[in-house]
Amino acid sequence: MSRTVSRRILAAWLREVGVDYVMLPAAVPPSDADVETLDDIREELTDCRRCPLCAGRATVVFGVGNPRARLMFVGEGPGSEEDRLGEPFVGAAGKRLDRWIARIGLRREDVYIANIVKCRPPGNRPPLPDEAKVCLPYLLRQIRAIRPEIVCTLGATALNFLFGVEEKITRERGKWRERDGVPVLPTYHPAFILRNAARETEVFEDFDALATRLRLPPAK
Ligand code: URA
Repeated sequence: MSRTVSRRILAAWLREVGVDYVMLPAAVPPSDADVETLDDIREELTDCRRCPLCAGRATVVFGVGNPRARLMFVGEGPGSEEDRLGEPFVGAAGKRLDRWIARIGLRREDVYIANIVKCRPPGNRPPLPDEAKVCLPYLLRQIRAIRPEIVCTLGATALNFLFGVEEKITRERGKWRERDGVPVLPTYHPAFILRNAARETEVFEDFDALATRLRLPPAK
């Protein structure tokens, strides 16, 4: 028999036997039994019809990578290649992102990559506020399940929907923020860099900051 009981089950049992208040030590790190898994969340999104984007999608693009990643990237939403293959950042922008990840000595399999919305907006437009609002809770649950040490947002859309702000990425990139206790570093979207190559040095600075904060060994 398993000796691990989740806090939720324990709390329900305590309430049943008449105990409704228990002093806990100040900081109890969540145990694995308390945290839902990525598979739990993915299951809820199978055949999701919570917003109009479902009408035009081929696949729900949930996310990809190491479920225990120290570093997580958040983009905007799947494009046509991503929609076809069911994996985020597999087109030209994705190849550029892979290069940035390799630059700090990591591989795509080491990190986790997800988007603000899981279904492709038509014509590669940014997600609408209502679409992002419906999908954001799933991203927040993914972050909670993975517990990355750092989240790096890619582009203005990811930054603005994750924080509920309307900022310019040119002003905010490279400035650390925090969401639900997780440090977040905004940088440019790789598709923007494909059109504005001169700005890539700023992305390199941001990735150096990620590597420093994660204490990664200098890449060869
Ligand atoms: N752009 C994004 O923001 N996300 C993807 O998955 C692909 C391109």
